[in-house]
Amino acid sequence: MRIGIFGGTFDPPHLGHLILAAEASHQLALDRLLFVLTPQPPHKGDRLIAPLEARLEMLQAAIAANPAFELSHIEIERPGPHYSADTVHLVRAVYPDSTLAFVMGADSLRDLPDWRRADDFVAACDILGVMRRPYQRFDLKALEEKLPGIGGKVQFIRAPLLEISSRQIRRRIAEGRPYLYYLPAAVAAVIARRGLYRQPD
Ligand code: ATP
Ligand code: MG
Repeated sequence: MRIGIFGGTFDPPHLGHLILAAEASHQLALDRLLFVLTPQPPHKGDRLIAPLEARLEMLQAAIAANPAFELSHIEIERPGPHYSADTVHLVRAVYPDSTLAFVMGADSLRDLPDWRRADDFVAACDILGVMRRPYQRFDLKALEEKLPGIGGKVQFIRAPLLEISSRQIRRRIAEGRPYLYYLPAAVAAVIARRGLYRQPD
C-alpha cells in the first residue's frame, strides 16, 4: 500500500488543501490519504484557532466526497505537543509494509529544518510530496545541507499555483468580503452555521 499523510490545522480547510491532496494522491499513486488534524500546532503561537470540534466538522465535510481521503485522529488521540516525526512513526506502526508519503506546501518544506526532530521525520518518510505555493521560495541545496538525504525524498506535485490560504479566508470573513468558492460549499455551510471567524485573528 502507498499511504499519504497530510498534516494541517485546517482552520478552515480550503481548495488549496483539496487540490494538493487530489494531485498528490494521483501523482504519487496513493491508495489512501490520511488528513491528520493537528489540535494545537506548536508553531502557530497564540493565535486563536477555531475549536477542534468545529475544525473536525469542517474537515470531515471537505473530504467526504472522496473515498480515498480519510480523517485521521492520530494527533487528537495523544497528548501534545504533536511532532510530525512521531505521527509518521505511528502511521508506520499501523501500515508496516507501506510506502509513506508526507504531503505539504512549499512553506512547510522551507520551515522543515525548524521542526522538532526534523532529521528523524525525514528519515521516517519515504517520500515528501511538495506543492509549490505563491511567494514561498526555498532552497533545496540549503535544505540538503541542513537535512542530508532530504533532496532524494522530495517529489514536486504538478499543480497550478493557488493563492488561497486559511489565513486569507479568515480575514475575508472577518471583513465581510466574499469567501464562498475558496472552499467547498459544505465547509462554508459549517462556517455560517457556527458563526466562525467573525472576529479578526
Ligand atoms: P494558515 O494560513 O492558517 O497557515 P494554511 O492555508 O497554510 O493555513 P495549513 O493548515 O497551515 O493551511 O496547511 C496545511 C498544509 O497545506 C501545509 O503544508 C501548507 O503548506 C499546505 N497548503 C495550504 N494551502 C496551500 C496552497 N494554497 N498551496 C499549496 N499548499 C498549501
Ligand atoms: Mg499554513
